[in-house]
Amino acid sequence: MTVNILNLPDFNVQRVEETDRDYHVYAEVSAPSRVCSTCGADRLIGHGRNEQVIRDLPTHGKRLAIYVDTRRWRCQSCGKTFMEALPTINAKREMTDRLVKWIGQQSLKRTFASIADDTGLDEKTIRNIFRDYINDLEAEFRFETPKWMGIDEIHLIKPRCVISNIRNNTIIDMLPNRDKKTVVNYLYNLQGKSDVQYVAMDMWSPYRDAVMTVLPDARIIIDKFHVVRMANDAVEKVRKSLREQLTPKQRRGLMHDKFVLLKRERDLNEKEALLLDGWMKNYPDLGTAYRLKEGFYTIYEGADSPEAAIAAYDAWNKAVVPEVRGAFGDLIRAFTNWQPFILNYFEHPVTNAYTESLNNLIRVMNRLGRGYSFEALRAKILFSEGVHKHKLSRPKFERRREPDLAMARAVKGYGVPEDAMDYGLPPEYFGKVVPMPENSAARAEPPHKQPRPLKNYGADINTLIELIESGQL
Ligand SMILES: [Zn+2]
Repeated sequence: MTVNILNLPDFNVQRVEETDRDYHVYAEVSAPSRVCSTCGADRLIGHGRNEQVIRDLPTHGKRLAIYVDTRRWRCQSCGKTFMEALPTINAKREMTDRLVKWIGQQSLKRTFASIADDTGLDEKTIRNIFRDYINDLEAEFRFETPKWMGIDEIHLIKPRCVISNIRNNTIIDMLPNRDKKTVVNYLYNLQGKSDVQYVAMDMWSPYRDAVMTVLPDARIIIDKFHVVRMANDAVEKVRKSLREQLTPKQRRGLMHDKFVLLKRERDLNEKEALLLDGWMKNYPDLGTAYRLKEGFYTIYEGADSPEAAIAAYDAWNKAVVPEVRGAFGDLIRAFTNWQPFILNYFEHPVTNAYTESLNNLIRVMNRLGRGYSFEALRAKILFSEGVHKHKLSRPKFERRREPDLAMARAVKGYGVPEDAMDYGLPPEYFGKVVPMPENSAARAEPPHKQPRPLKNYGADINTLIELIESGQL
């Protein structure tokens, strides 16, 4: 008896040939069906055999092909001839089902080239299987549409658009580019798009135009981060313009100390403060730029309403003297062009936690890029095992309501607020109306109801960072 190297009971292995790289396994169907595939009659007569080559999982580090000695039958009832059906073989491809599944899973972890090499298939075939696998995953995982959406940018070979759920710190999609058409198309097809109330973004007009076209009721907010960093850019411009006047040694010194200029004054240690003081005294324009940068940050720290913010900005703008006005030109233009959306921030501040996480992710993503197509990277980010977040986070920028208030609302029959889990309520209160407390019959009802299907908020940004940093993604 031949040992069944395949571990596929549906096949009898007749013989195995082995080379340095390959197994060639000769087999036939072990329990052939003896009914006609057309009419169902069982009066079949043999009509020859035909060898079919079926690819299977690599085994013991070698590529494996099964040479199936497939029977041909002729039906005596209807006269049709047909090949016997091969069990556990993928209907679309000359491969075992398990190979197709394995390639799909592997395609999120490895490059197509390395999978092609291990299986003896070409990269195009691997890519096609990958696409089918992604389509299955898209159908399986439906991410909740965020109330607070982020539209950001990430550089993977070229700039791509990242769609996120700000309150939950998750990514819900990545788009191949950042064109208006692509973003419009994405938003238009988004299920539950009317749930989106706020969209935070960078100052990139295709994003704004797309949101205004498809989500006219959503409020657009420019996150603080994208604005204040332009004040740092202005300081950099002044620093670079000084280089002409400096000796090579001074130039190196200023290059070395550039981080001091970009830091907030309150974060400087004694030595750094001394360095800053030196540069500011020697180069008054640099000093002026630094003061204006600090002043610009203060707008964000001091103003608690759009009105206060615009008043503070106007005062700041008046203080921008001609000597450095050119360096601050981009910031001033941006503030003018995007003013209503920038001011929206002062009513609806986006969490810094989200911005920081996303920036960290962007930083580590560079390690991920090599050898992968955008589609594969997107799939890794969105669908890798263990990245999904199922719990709704409490927004960090809203005042936390008291637990008993949440409870009182629930008891009144309003149902539990969706972020009730963060108030320490037991899970059985989650997602259903809690009975009135005086209704003892209802209260005595054991919490045995079916758990509702788990919501999926997308790929958790912090988990992604951990997985990428530890080389698991
Ligand atoms: Zn028949």
